[in-house]
Amino acid sequence: MGIIDESRAIIQPLNRTWYGDRVAALDMLRLDLLHPVVSGNKWYKLRLNVQHAIDAGYKTIITPGGGYSNHLIATAFAAKMFGLKAIGVVRGRYDVLTPTLEACKANGMDLVFVTQEDYANRHQPEWAQKLVDNFDEIFMIPEGGANEWGRAGAGLINRFIGSSYTHIAVSVGTGTTMIGLRNKLDNYQQILGFAPMKHGTYLNTYIKEHLKIDKDTNWQLFDEWHFGGFGKWNNELLQFMNDFYRANDIPLDIVYTSKMMFGIGQMLQNNVFAEGDRILCIHSGGLQGNVSVKSELVY
Ligand SMILES: *Cc1c(COP(=O)(O)O)cnc(C)c1O
Repeated sequence: MGIIDESRAIIQPLNRTWYGDRVAALDMLRLDLLHPVVSGNKWYKLRLNVQHAIDAGYKTIITPGGGYSNHLIATAFAAKMFGLKAIGVVRGRYDVLTPTLEACKANGMDLVFVTQEDYANRHQPEWAQKLVDNFDEIFMIPEGGANEWGRAGAGLINRFIGSSYTHIAVSVGTGTTMIGLRNKLDNYQQILGFAPMKHGTYLNTYIKEHLKIDKDTNWQLFDEWHFGGFGKWNNELLQFMNDFYRANDIPLDIVYTSKMMFGIGQMLQNNVFAEGDRILCIHSGGLQGNVSVKSELVY
């Protein structure tokens, strides 16, 4: 699977003007540079899923997501790249398609719309089965790529992470990336998860369930920097994104990585870290989601 050029994913030190001398190193792994559409962690969560689908002889991938889902558009694109058909099961009805859904269609994905109530059943095997029964040779990827192939694929991000880093910061949606990484990182490396939704620590149980027994160590999930909930933001966050961009020349996304970096900034100010700590923040992409706030951003 060499279509995505992994050498684009550089490690960029953040500007000292942004964080001072509070820690020994604060770097960002730029997975957002991998590819304009299949960016960041989505590619890693999809690659072993797509490989499995091909190896097992499936012709079509079906996956659920919301109208602004980075996972949906990444799936549409990955399927196209590998000659598979893709069907997106979209939560809710849209009289006017969102830019994300337009892009899904433009990349050949068929969209099926289900009501919020119906979508709430998406984790039940019968729900998936009912969808799949309508089609031949179809492989179902759960929302956010949250399955064994997704976790194993996310674990491959480990190849970019040197052993000198003491802390790895990652944004959390389903928790798949965090789990995959925790399972691969060295035990002494702390993984800090940042949930962009209210009460995100409900994911602790799920994360724990999927960690290998000897890897259930040195991980923590924070949910205080949600800015009102998933997909919500305010002027303070926009201002932060613009300031961060001016200082570091790195665009953050409005849903995930901006909230994570805001949290890291607050933790630095609160002297949560030790002087010798070396922190690597993972830029998990998602920049396509910024179209709705484009006019507010300097990038
Ligand atoms: C999807 C996404 C996440 C969340 O990843 P999970 O593996 O579902 O926890 C984080 N950051 C960005 C930019 C994303 O698009």
